[in-house]
Amino acid sequence: MDMTNLHQLFNAQTQEIEISGIRLFDEKIASIDGLIKLTLGQPDFPTPQHVKDAGIKAIKNNLSFYTGMAGELRLRESVANFMKVKYNISYDPQSEILSTVGATEALAASLLAILNPGDKVLIPSPFFSLYEPLVILGKAEPVYIDTTENDFILSPEMIQEAMSVHGDKVKAIILNYPTNPTGVTWNREEVIAIADTLKQYPDVFAISDEIYSELVYEGSHISLGEYLFDQTIVINGLSKSHAMTGWRLGFTLAPKAITQQIIKVHQYLVTSASSITQYAGIEALENGMDDALPMREEYKKRRDYIYEIMHRLGFEIAKPNGAFYIFAKIPEGYIQNSYDFCYDLAQKAKVGFIPGVAFGEAGEGFIRLSYASSMAEIEEAMHRLTNYMEQHSVN
Ligand code: PMP
Repeated sequence: MDMTNLHQLFNAQTQEIEISGIRLFDEKIASIDGLIKLTLGQPDFPTPQHVKDAGIKAIKNNLSFYTGMAGELRLRESVANFMKVKYNISYDPQSEILSTVGATEALAASLLAILNPGDKVLIPSPFFSLYEPLVILGKAEPVYIDTTENDFILSPEMIQEAMSVHGDKVKAIILNYPTNPTGVTWNREEVIAIADTLKQYPDVFAISDEIYSELVYEGSHISLGEYLFDQTIVINGLSKSHAMTGWRLGFTLAPKAITQQIIKVHQYLVTSASSITQYAGIEALENGMDDALPMREEYKKRRDYIYEIMHRLGFEIAKPNGAFYIFAKIPEGYIQNSYDFCYDLAQKAKVGFIPGVAFGEAGEGFIRLSYASSMAEIEEAMHRLTNYMEQHSVN
């Protein structure tokens, strides 16, 4: 094998994509001594005890075999019940629900099931770093809709404008609310307006990543599936609601004809989600549907605390109403390039944020921080940020 020309041997799309900017930056600053990292989007809480116990019990009872491809029926029934109770939508557990290896695999399998070479996929921007590479791996083309001017809220007009430019090449739109990285979300009227707009384009799939559905602070989450059932693939999972990122459990919820296609990709990618994880998931949904509540209260306190301080320091922030991120515009008079700002902050103040540009061009000039860290760490990080801002104005 000729190592100098090795790159020619690989898949063209694989060569086009990069390791996520979030991970790369996190690793770049990881060796800085004494750094407080508010970088990664994972809950700092442990998985609830009763859920852990269910996983342990499953191991003890030797439930260590492959499950059916779609996952244990009892798990899918508990997901169906969760969607009915919380979001007023009925999905048939036998044919419309799939359990996956995290929301990540749910997104990958869904996109690979629908994309053809040359398709376009609309992505409101700034966006979570997974979407763009998955679209590229599907040999399709991402088309970004910049939402910065509208406080990161996607509007029906923005969709219409993108559709008028890209027309029948558009195969799907990827929606995500509450949104990573901005934490903004949509109320019922906004969800209905988006659904009504997308109904005008019945051949466009709406992939609705609702992984933060349980972390909405004022009001509650409304699922797109309630208003746009036929076109929608809802993505959800237990990573955020039950602090289970490492267990890897997600779901797709979609009409039967769509699910039948996704399940084929899912089967050949992973066979099924981990059996032990699925039994823990059954417990989480049957007896812990509201496990996120105490976590949500705590996140909300942290959000309010950080928002207050950063606002005072001159950061412009669209107040987040969900998830656990603050997406803030770097004030004038400081390094404006988000990568350079974050690197300087990490080196000099020992605080780790993620450069906004990791979430697409529309995120340039912003930083994202995750407040899924202890209050003690957050307080110290804000103290350090305050000192940095006092000392490092470039004016
Ligand atoms: N979607 C969004 C918007 C996310 O923020 C994340 C995790 N950071 C995921 C999907 C992936 O979730 P999972 O851990 O369930 O794969």
